[in-house]
Amino acid sequence: MDDQPNHFISQGFIDLEGKWGAHNYQPLPVVLTRGQGVWLWDVEGKKYLDMMSAYSAVSHGHCHPKLLAALQAQAGHLSMCSRAYYTDILPLFLQKLCHITGMDRALPMNTGAEAVETAIKAARRWGYFSKKVPENQAQIIVMSNNFHGRTSGIISFSSDPHYRSGFGPFLPGFKEVPFGDAVALENAITPHTCAVLTEPIQGEAGIIVPPKGWLADVSKICQKHNVLLIVDEVQSGLGRTGKMFACQHEGVQPDGMILGKALGGGFYPVSALVGKERLMHVFTPGSHGSTFGGNPLAAAVALHALEVMEEEHLPEQSAKLGDYFMEQLKSTRSPIIRELRGMGLWIGVDIDPSRTTARKICEKLKEQGVLSKETHDTVVRLAPPLVITKEELDWGIEKIRLVLKDVSGQ
Ligand code: PMP
Repeated sequence: MDDQPNHFISQGFIDLEGKWGAHNYQPLPVVLTRGQGVWLWDVEGKKYLDMMSAYSAVSHGHCHPKLLAALQAQAGHLSMCSRAYYTDILPLFLQKLCHITGMDRALPMNTGAEAVETAIKAARRWGYFSKKVPENQAQIIVMSNNFHGRTSGIISFSSDPHYRSGFGPFLPGFKEVPFGDAVALENAITPHTCAVLTEPIQGEAGIIVPPKGWLADVSKICQKHNVLLIVDEVQSGLGRTGKMFACQHEGVQPDGMILGKALGGGFYPVSALVGKERLMHVFTPGSHGSTFGGNPLAAAVALHALEVMEEEHLPEQSAKLGDYFMEQLKSTRSPIIRELRGMGLWIGVDIDPSRTTARKICEKLKEQGVLSKETHDTVVRLAPPLVITKEELDWGIEKIRLVLKDVSGQ
């Protein structure tokens, strides 16, 4: 019986969490205790390849040594002091963030949703202060099937009933158009439109890639009508799609960009709105803030996370291995795959629902030592840390092949 994993240990933690935690998630039944690079270990010692990367938050891999050292050094020096004072680390992070994004100013927050809220407030203020939209009439155009987070403000413009049900009344001032339809977007613009807010590729919707040229068209339409373009790169940004930012695939420089997840290097929640001066000048002392936003620990980790992105050429790595990964998946010609979508190391495997569910595939992958997570009923996302090597990826591909074969009975 020695080779049988002791599921009793895992089940103990699962039961404890089930008893004391609100049931707002439905995790796969695996209890993790350690991570290093692209690998994770559960409490029974079983090793897994991380193909999920905490929704892109672990793009640098688990416990990256340079980031761990930066975190430890800063934690032993000055970890927290609020924006009531200046520090000798925040400006360095802000400067680096502006350089890497080609923007003028940054406003640091903590979670992705907070940075999205920051963008909404910035866009509305710009609408009133600069575009002279009548008071309380500003409108923001958003995309159907968007995902921007879970605050009351953000779910007000979600099109997914799961995220909204029972949480009204909702915030007004948003208009939804189909993702990928530039004509519908242009038709939706009115003199009260202050901004268009979109993901360049829709992550939570199932890794939906819009038609080529769409974002470039949106950018032109926004310029023509004096409307801000704000791109949510919380999940797509920082190398995930094979470029530093997904909007660079279309040569688009938005007015505002929202970043999070990988900005924290897999260690710490760090997010930001970065933007052009014409947007960012709307913030005046007291108009917005967060106790933890831009704290020294966050600034140190994020500064180094950006440095590692460049030093280790993670976007290039994502492009190269992402293409290889996609080819390998296509070559399986599995009958249970309805569609393969994605860019870089960010792939959605759309499963034929008449054969099985994405959840079932994720459970089988877990048994084989590969951790992924379904999004909606039919999409398995495959998004390993960008530090993955070809050998590690090949190991994962082999396991994926096994599961596809097993499920399709081939
Ligand atoms: N924007 C996008 C595009 C996201 O994918 C997410 C999270 N999945 C968020 C915003 C929200 O980020 P957080 O969970 O850190 O609030």
